[in-house]
Amino acid sequence: MARRAPLLSVPESDVLRARLDRARAAAAGTGLVIAPGSDLRYLIGRPGGSFERLTALIVPADGAPALVVPKLEAPGFDGVAELGVDIVTWVDGVDPYRLAAERLGGVERVAVSDFTPALHVLGIRDALPKAEQVLAGPIVRELRMRKDAAEIDALRKAGAAIDRVHARVGEWLRAGRTEAEVGADIAAAIVAEGHTEADFVIVASGPNGASPHHALSDRVIEAGDVVVVDIGGPVAEGYNSDSTRTYSVGTPRDADVAATYAVLQEAQQAAVDAVRPGATAESIDAAARDVIAAAGFGDYFIHRTGHGIGLDVHEEPYIVAGNDLPLEPGMAFSVEPGIYQPGRWGARIEDIVVVTAEGAEPMNKQPHELVQV
Ligand code: ZN
Ligand code: ZN
Ligand code: ZN
Repeated sequence: MARRAPLLSVPESDVLRARLDRARAAAAGTGLVIAPGSDLRYLIGRPGGSFERLTALIVPADGAPALVVPKLEAPGFDGVAELGVDIVTWVDGVDPYRLAAERLGGVERVAVSDFTPALHVLGIRDALPKAEQVLAGPIVRELRMRKDAAEIDALRKAGAAIDRVHARVGEWLRAGRTEAEVGADIAAAIVAEGHTEADFVIVASGPNGASPHHALSDRVIEAGDVVVVDIGGPVAEGYNSDSTRTYSVGTPRDADVAATYAVLQEAQQAAVDAVRPGATAESIDAAARDVIAAAGFGDYFIHRTGHGIGLDVHEEPYIVAGNDLPLEPGMAFSVEPGIYQPGRWGARIEDIVVVTAEGAEPMNKQPHELVQV
């Protein structure tokens, strides 16, 4: 039954050409330097890889974009020339920063992608000492934050794949096994159900559940444990899943679990119900937080309600107090409140939703109840 997905699926060339044009327009006279990673994948369909040798997409204010790439890496960018991108290869001994600077021309400002290695940022600064350097994140996120129909399809596919994994957790989660053993089985299933890799696997049992980003440990799961399982990974299109369900191994040991979990479920639903175009990101956070605070658990909800998701697991828009960004159709983010009882147990419910014309479309469809295994 294992479905091995292709490792890389590339958008149509006309889609990518339009993104390159929009990036140049959004940069408004600033030169763009995009290093390997999700921004590069968004713009030319291939993520590449960051190494000590410079690979970077240069989008100048005028003229054709160029991919400055070591000659030995160039075969990985097959098809990029069809997008109207000049392929500028270099060999060891050549100064690639000078090549990048030539393509940028005499710009006053250069925007470098947020996760460019410092090695390359400083190399470009030396080659263009008069240009001001700024982050490209604010420019590129304006494009990436609103997903088109194909991107939403990829998020649906990722959501369905991770739902199939959650549906099978009962096959592996039981007393007497360690978190690490259960996590290894889940990681294999993440790939078997259609992801290209397991990006993260959290199996946080008993007291470990009170640590939101606990990963895996050698703790042996016991009867009565509440277990937080938060898992995800990319599909071939590069878009990620991220979904949390909370399980109990038999009847929960602690008498307060059912009532507390009911508050969490209500909070998660209140936040999803608040999603609609025009609502602010912070109002979605408040919708969940108000329910949890009213029940007296405010101090136990120790993180923002959600994060955007797409080619990165965490990206804009962040669903957090202070973010007054109005939501728009096509924005995709997690709604994942949690209640963490230090030293005892924790619980979280997480679905990805996409903003529609009227409200929210959930990418995850598994039931929200505490799952007893
Ligand atoms: Zn997280
Ligand atoms: Zn998660
Ligand atoms: Zn998340």
